[in-house]
Amino acid sequence: MFQQVQTAPPDSILGLNEAFRNDPNPEKINLSVGVYKDEKGVTPVLKCVKEAEKRLLESESTKSYLPIDGRAGYNESVRELMFGTEHEVLAANRAVTVQTPGGTGALRVAGDFLADSFKGRALWHSQPTWPNHPNIFTAAGIPLKTYPYFDKATNGLDFTGMMEALRQAPKGDIILLHGCCHNPTGIDPTPEQWKEIGDLVQEKELLPLLDFAYQGFGDGLKEDAAGLREIARPGQEMLICSSFSKNFGLYNERVGALTAVAADEASAAAVLSQLKKVIRSNYSNPPTHGAAVVETVLADTGLNAMWEEELAHMRDRINGIRKLFVDKISASGIDQDFSFIQKQKGMFSFSGLNQMQVDQLRNEMSIYIVGSGRINVAGISEANVDRLCEGIKKVLS
Ligand code: PMP
Repeated sequence: MFQQVQTAPPDSILGLNEAFRNDPNPEKINLSVGVYKDEKGVTPVLKCVKEAEKRLLESESTKSYLPIDGRAGYNESVRELMFGTEHEVLAANRAVTVQTPGGTGALRVAGDFLADSFKGRALWHSQPTWPNHPNIFTAAGIPLKTYPYFDKATNGLDFTGMMEALRQAPKGDIILLHGCCHNPTGIDPTPEQWKEIGDLVQEKELLPLLDFAYQGFGDGLKEDAAGLREIARPGQEMLICSSFSKNFGLYNERVGALTAVAADEASAAAVLSQLKKVIRSNYSNPPTHGAAVVETVLADTGLNAMWEEELAHMRDRINGIRKLFVDKISASGIDQDFSFIQKQKGMFSFSGLNQMQVDQLRNEMSIYIVGSGRINVAGISEANVDRLCEGIKKVLS
């Protein structure tokens, strides 16, 4: 039977990583996969994580299963990190959270729940979006639609196009929004634009699904949650997919969460029962370690302060690199304006390079960038920025 199986194409982003690993060029540069790297090109384990792990190793008393929805303390911390402790959503007890294997797991549980409970409703995603979004929701059986997002002329947000498209969405359709640090463009709505999105969602009775994978990577933990809090108006329902892969550097521990905000406590409980049903038939219950680390850090004042400092360091480095890159580009005599890169948020930038230029960079200089022109800014360092600018100059001329 297996002789009939066709080889599937490699993943558009993770596949590139594999090609990078096999490239023998000692000066190769990897700006593809979305992993933070420090000044030395290393993806570090945070000190707060190491400390929490030490404590956990000593205190752990069982390896028995977690509940289907994961660790209760973790789930509560996730909600508080998003909403703060005083928010109406928490006071009204109308949000439920399930611990999931990474943000991807959260998206898939959301997808399965939506496909099952709201058959036929379409999901609208930004064009472009993280390529795994269409993979996940298609696999869950959800019809997809797109709304414009990137304005090529300004290298900014096509807000008019986005709103015009979303106004066409029928009542009950699902609107996928990036909570902050949009992947791949690095372009986020302004607070005023979030307000307009909130108005539209409310007026048209759409269901917002926020992918919140980069809290703390844009302007700060609270600042990055501003859009989410704008959407979460009294009575408004929504889904939020969290990931701690980036802001805790816990990529391979698979730490995420899905939070469902319902109109009231009773419907939140019903939604939770459906989410558990989805999880039970999928992976049964989540792994404990990564979530225990996050829970430990968030519950301890000292460790929490350490985390916020380490997170601020990652954020500041990325913003510093954005400036360095823009300065070096203009100093290298490239006359194209790249200053927009400094305005973008989070780990990614849309460089404006096309597929042909991306291919040329890879083939001639071993510089790896995703086909859309998306650059992982955190992959740039003092050590490789000159070579990168040289490559960009070459492919632009
Ligand atoms: N959403 C977005 C927009 C992402 O960029 C990522 C990670 N690349 C995720 C979700 C999922 O993260 P993970 O499953 O690694 O937690």
